[in-house]
Amino acid sequence: MELSAVKPRPVPFVDLQAQHALLRDEILQAVQGQIDRCDFVLGRSVEEFERAFAAYCGVSHCVGVANGTEAIALALRALGVDRPEQEVVVPAMTFVASAAAVVHAGARPVLADIRPETFTLDPSKLEQAITPRTRAIIAVHLYGLPADMEPIRRIARERGLLLIEDAAQAHGARYGGVRVGGLGDAATFSFYPSKNLGACGDGGAVVTSSTEAAARLRTLRDHGAPSKHDHQVIGFNSRLDALQATILAIKLRRLDEWNDLRRAHARAYEERLRGTAALELPSSPPDREHVFHLYVVRVPSRDRDRLREHLAAAGIGHGLHYPHAIHQTRAFAFLGYPEGSFPAAERSAACGLSLPMYPELTESQIDRVSEAVSSYFRGKRTS
Ligand SMILES: *Cc1c(COP(=O)(O)O)cnc(C)c1O
Repeated sequence: MELSAVKPRPVPFVDLQAQHALLRDEILQAVQGQIDRCDFVLGRSVEEFERAFAAYCGVSHCVGVANGTEAIALALRALGVDRPEQEVVVPAMTFVASAAAVVHAGARPVLADIRPETFTLDPSKLEQAITPRTRAIIAVHLYGLPADMEPIRRIARERGLLLIEDAAQAHGARYGGVRVGGLGDAATFSFYPSKNLGACGDGGAVVTSSTEAAARLRTLRDHGAPSKHDHQVIGFNSRLDALQATILAIKLRRLDEWNDLRRAHARAYEERLRGTAALELPSSPPDREHVFHLYVVRVPSRDRDRLREHLAAAGIGHGLHYPHAIHQTRAFAFLGYPEGSFPAAERSAACGLSLPMYPELTESQIDRVSEAVSSYFRGKRTS
């Protein structure tokens, strides 16, 4: 037999097929029943999922919307942030949607740097970014690690600012024992398929314990009408799809188990990679529970491209989250921040490398990923 014939199968960066293999029959049966009932827009399945997800997050209300980006924009609008003179502080390193949604709401994003060890908003940098025009703070629980919520909540309280959690990457994570979603005035989630809780398509939600904000969100997501034909404000069509709600309700029951597996995989990576001096591994402070949406290591920037080639040759999937800080994208050049404005965010853009992370990852896959990464650095030493 030729050697190439026994080459191990590639390790994908994410593997949704592995997840759906286990849930396929349950999902198909539920979706089929719903198609038979023609229950497609809002209605029972959306209400049931909203109730279950609010209870899961430990808050009073959940409003299902079209996606995680609109969740942020609608949360801002529902809380009264919708004018160009209103500023919203956003971390400089996040998925672009956290900042784009501020513009969609009609307000202005102001960036602040992250803490280099945790990749989340630096409370002291946040304070420096606040001006008399600031109305809200968006704390992003990036990669599944809750931001430094205690100091951030204190700053919001002292300055009279709204606090929104962008929890698109952190379903089920905890800070000080409290689940994300219940740590600010509102929290937003994405159910994009590869998120910790993902639909079979797009979806999103806002959770809040404010009854007024929840009522405004329900109106805004459905043509500005609290009841049929009663158009009180100019709203949007941004509802969580009813078939997706059904699928999400099925998957929500597995979320804790999946997050536990992600954490176990992170420990396994840590054991295998901590001896590789060139790598910085993700930190997980003891006051919070990481749910590892992504497993992002940092490598010397001069090595990153060669390491990626080495991984690709070994069939190991990987990604960059994200290769540009917000101010480094063309879309946000209009904010006028020069290169060097946010050193920690820029360093993260230059050095971050995401390794495969999903609940169904096997021990032998983790071994192969870890071996491929460490062999790159071993090879460098000896050559
Ligand atoms: C995925 C994501 C979003 C946007 O969610 P969509 O459902 O893709 O619109 C916003 N913020 C963060 C941090 C995300 O990871």
